[in-house]
Amino acid sequence: DDIMELFRNELSQLTKYFAHPQKITILPHKDPDGDAIGACLGWYNVLIAVGHDVVVISPDEVPENLRWMPGAAHIVTFSSDKGTASDRLAKSELLLLLDFNDLKRVGELANVVRTLDIPRVNIDHHPYPDTAISQVLISDTGASSTCELSFRVMKGLGYKPGIESAVCLYSGIMTDTGMLNHNSSNPGLYRIIAELLEAGIDKDSIHKELFHSNSLSRTRLMGHALGNKLQVISSGRVAYIALSAEELRMYEYKPGDTEGLVNMPLSVKGIVVSILLTERKEGFVKLSFRSRGGIAINAYSTRYFSGGGHSNAAGGEFVGSLDDAVSVICSTIGPFLDGD
Ligand code: 5GP
Ligand code: MN
Repeated sequence: DDIMELFRNELSQLTKYFAHPQKITILPHKDPDGDAIGACLGWYNVLIAVGHDVVVISPDEVPENLRWMPGAAHIVTFSSDKGTASDRLAKSELLLLLDFNDLKRVGELANVVRTLDIPRVNIDHHPYPDTAISQVLISDTGASSTCELSFRVMKGLGYKPGIESAVCLYSGIMTDTGMLNHNSSNPGLYRIIAELLEAGIDKDSIHKELFHSNSLSRTRLMGHALGNKLQVISSGRVAYIALSAEELRMYEYKPGDTEGLVNMPLSVKGIVVSILLTERKEGFVKLSFRSRGGIAINAYSTRYFSGGGHSNAAGGEFVGSLDDAVSVICSTIGPFLDGD
């Protein structure tokens, strides 16, 4: 694997860190998705198998459709269990930061992390990594997912992921590529998938858990969003869906319920940018962006919504009302597309 040539120094440092049993704490980004949780639990299962004491701490609630993964029951949720999370962090000897490139992505948990004087390892595939957040950075923006990159790193270190780890890594690859729809043109990825299958995973049951276990209310929320709330602006190039806190309550919204929704308007001919706005609480709006081709929507998100992400898939936040967030979009996205 030539990627592993590239990270020779990082791998040898990791080998030193892992040489003796350590108290390792693993962190995904907030609003964790399948890749973030898959990578955390992929590492969790590999590292406990070789004798480390490992805990995954999620900044906030893990979506229900990911809680079946091997090891998920042991994840500590910072937002609802700050005491346990802080105690564990205080005892930790090594931090693994997975699937994010900036400490802001762990929210309030960042304040605790900053007080710790222990080595940090960052494994991620987002562009523009903040090199100050870790001593060892393994960043590959060409990787489909942090799970794919993690598999390569594990192999580079001489670990052979067992079935529990393989299940988690496979899940992250499938969710981050939209079931091999995007970021999945590299033949090496399919060799990795073949190895994960050889590890004994039950692909069909994983797909059932990830993609075919929706609640009825989630499906109705999707229907409402696409049927009643989809707006098209900028001469048919931009679609947005804005869901209020009231609407989310009506459809019994749970974390993860809107996963995939933002991709759907992009399948309409002519739409090159799709935006989903969800009012998570009064005065706070979460945004998801998708774009086609050369439109770097992460740059837009950084500029107007203190966000970031990948060129064609990004996210951000807005402090203010849902209507005000929509107004910002309506007044800025056209000029942005026209290259202001
Ligand atoms: P999603 O729309 O699926 O939640 O996120 C799309 C991509 O943008 C993911 O790679 C995610 O990590 C990133 N992302 C989502 N929200 C934010 C955010 O608030 N800030 C930054 N920097 N990245 C985000
Ligand atoms: Mn990812």
